[in-house]
Parts: sequence; C-alpha cells; structure tokens
Amino acid sequence: MKLYSTNNKDLRVSFKDAVFNSMPQDKGLYMPVEIPKLDADFIANIENYSLPEIAFKVASTLLKDEIPAEDLKALIEDAINFDAPAVKLDDKTFVLELFHGPSLAFKDFGARFMSRVMAYFLKDGEQLLDVLVATSGDTGGAVALGFLGVPNTRVTILYPEGKVSPIQELQLTTNGQNIRAIEIKGTFDDCQALVKQAFADPELNRKFRLTSANSINISRLIPQTFYYFNTYAQLKRKGIQDVIFSVPSGNFGNIGAGLLAYKLGLPVKQFIAATNINDTVPRFLESGVYETKPSTQTYSNAMDVGAPSNWIRIMDLFNQDIDILKKVVTSYRFNDEETLAGIKDIYAKFNYVACPHTAIAYLAIEKYRQEKPADHSAAVFLSTAHACKFPDIFPADIASRIEIPEQVTALTGRPKQADQLSINFSDFKHYLLNGLIVD
Ligand SMILES: *Cc1c(COP(=O)(O)O)cnc(C)c1O
Repeated sequence: MKLYSTNNKDLRVSFKDAVFNSMPQDKGLYMPVEIPKLDADFIANIENYSLPEIAFKVASTLLKDEIPAEDLKALIEDAINFDAPAVKLDDKTFVLELFHGPSLAFKDFGARFMSRVMAYFLKDGEQLLDVLVATSGDTGGAVALGFLGVPNTRVTILYPEGKVSPIQELQLTTNGQNIRAIEIKGTFDDCQALVKQAFADPELNRKFRLTSANSINISRLIPQTFYYFNTYAQLKRKGIQDVIFSVPSGNFGNIGAGLLAYKLGLPVKQFIAATNINDTVPRFLESGVYETKPSTQTYSNAMDVGAPSNWIRIMDLFNQDIDILKKVVTSYRFNDEETLAGIKDIYAKFNYVACPHTAIAYLAIEKYRQEKPADHSAAVFLSTAHACKFPDIFPADIASRIEIPEQVTALTGRPKQADQLSINFSDFKHYLLNGLIVD
C-alpha cells in the first residue's frame, strides 16, 4: 500500500512512514493510493468468517505486502482480542457494541492495532518510540491500555486535572510499566498546546523519537473498517442483507472508516452521521458551506468537535463531490435535552442503557425512519462507549442499572500514579529531558 496526501496527490509514502509520521508535512492527511475491492466471493460468504478472519482479509487486501501474511495474522489476533456484537433490540434495530475492549470504547480497535503496527515496524535495536498524547478522556485511556507492555515504546499522557471522569482517570493513571500520566493544571487545550510545542522543539526531536497517537493516524482508521464488515456478517447470519449504519461522530474517524469499508466493497444502503450541537457536518450537508466553529461542551463530550479532522478524508473518498456523498451519507444533530430523552427512550423501549454518544446515534435512526418511511433496511447504531464512563449524565433509576465491567473492577483500588505539572512548556520540556525533580 502506498499513500498520498490529501494536499498532494503526487506524494507517495510507505505505510510505515505514514504510521510514524501521522501527518504529511503539507498538513494534509494520508490516504491509500489504491482502494481495492474485496473479492465478491468473500462478501457473498462473509457470514462464514470470524472477526479476526474478516479483519485479516480486509487488512491484507488494503495493505498488500506491507506486512507478511503470517505476521499480519498474529498482529490482528493480538490486537483484536475482544468481541463486537451487534445486539438485537427489535427485528430491524441493532446496537453494535464496540466497548468490550480494555478502555471500554471503540477507540481500543484503533489504539491496539496502531500500537502493534508500530511495535512491528520498530526493528530490534531501534531507538525507543516516545508517544505523546493529550487527552480529554477517551483517547488517553485507549492509547495507554493499547500500548501497555508493548516493547520498545513509552507513552506520556497529558490530561487536564479534575476534568476527566473517575473511570477515565483510573485507566490513565494506574498502569505503570511503559505508561506515564501527567496531570496538567489547566484545560485540555493547554495539554494539547504542550504536546504540539514538544513536537516542534528541535532539542526534544534530537533526543527522542517522538510520535503522536492521534485519531488521524492511518493505522487507527484501518482497524475500524473491520467491525463494519463483521456486523454485516452477523446480520447476514440472521437473513438480513439491507443495512444502514448510524455513527455518533466527532472527528469523523469512525464514520470515515465505515465509508472506507464501503469503498472496499461493503454493501451498505446508507450511513448516518449523528452529531451533537457541534454540527459542522450537518450544516455543510444542508448548505454546501463548510464552516468550522469553536467546540461547545455537551453531554456527549467525546463528540465536542467544531473542526472534524477526518472530514477531508471523507471528501477525498468522494472526489469532493457533495452530491454523490449525499446519496450515501445523511446527517442529523441533537442537543443535550434530546440526548437525555433518547437515553430514556432506549431504556423504556428496550431495557437498554446507552451512553450519551450512543443515544445520539439511536435518535438519528428514529429521525431517518420518519423521513424515509419507504426504507425498510435494518438499522445498526454504533455504541462507541460503555455507559459507566459517563456516570453523571443518567437519571438515578437508569444509573442504578449500569453494570461495572471487569475491566474497571480490575483497576479499582490500584494506586494513582500521575505527575503534576503546570501549563508552562519549560516545565514539561524539563520533565521529558530529566524526569520529575522532587524538591
Ligand atoms: C471518540 C469518540 C466518538 C467520536 O468518534 P470520531 O471517530 O471522532 O467521530 C464518539 N463516541 C465516543 C464515546 C468516543 O470516544
């Protein structure tokens, strides 16, 4: 697989370079030069394959010989070692649970695959890979747990003091080994500014092999295609062939992967991009004008994104043609009041507790069905996180129904290991160079 930049179609880089650089110098995003179709025979018989088998087929079709078959198989079996069940709510409605990995969010697919791809490309004797991440919660947990114990890597996570949920903090700060957590006395934006400055610092770049683990890395996108195919296989086993997907969207990586799966040959009738009031994309599809805006805080805070970084990938997949794109992608927005009503509605109708992000995807299906009563496709809405990660949102009766998964109970009671730093870059730089100096 060769990749180009969305800002320079003539550029060609290897998969390895795209993985370690994350972003081209020209500030575009890497995209595969060729998106081959999976063979029709495989799609026709997909119900006979397991998730790891489907993942291998998709990854090897896309990556070609970048990673030899046996190595890729082993890598996938190690990375994708948890399930993604499409749970039936009624004959035509399914919730795709993507929260059975270590951090209880769909970001585990991307983070675990990326960490293992990076470890694979780090040959013996190569310099330690230093991963720097700023997080507002979910990304940091997935990256920390994704890289935990991965040889030849070290992860430094910056998170804003007092602004992540208790479970998120457990996931960030109880790891030890090759994971360091730093609590910043500031906001998420301060954390992000520190990381950006570190990447731009010549001295740090001379001393360390720095890399980011953010959601634009192509190796995070690829594994997210796997579960779209695997869902189609699950529904086919139930005799269903016509499928629409509703994806709760922030940076649009998840739905971008769905659309990549579509281009790889997955038969999908429609994608619905569901957002909160950070609605840059629904506004664009209505007006044709793409206008980003500063993000607003909502209950579905992992989707509080005013300038979705993966959107240019989606436009690129559709050759910038909004009319063709609109045939495949519909988009709706919902505010916090509607989100809460959605949570209550899913609970009342199906006795199912959905996290706020998941509830928005559900609401989008309801709305789509109202607008398109002739479409009788089965609808799958993606559940991107376990409800226990957002305890403050739920009314007491629903909150009491949330079961705490073993991934959390395993961490409870472990001592918090986090260093505290100010928002000054000089302190952070000193920390990276010398470690924490205790007075
Ligand atoms: C990151 C995240 C999203 C948004 O996914 P994108 O790929 O950025 O669109 C939605 N829900 C949850 C729970 C998340 O953590």
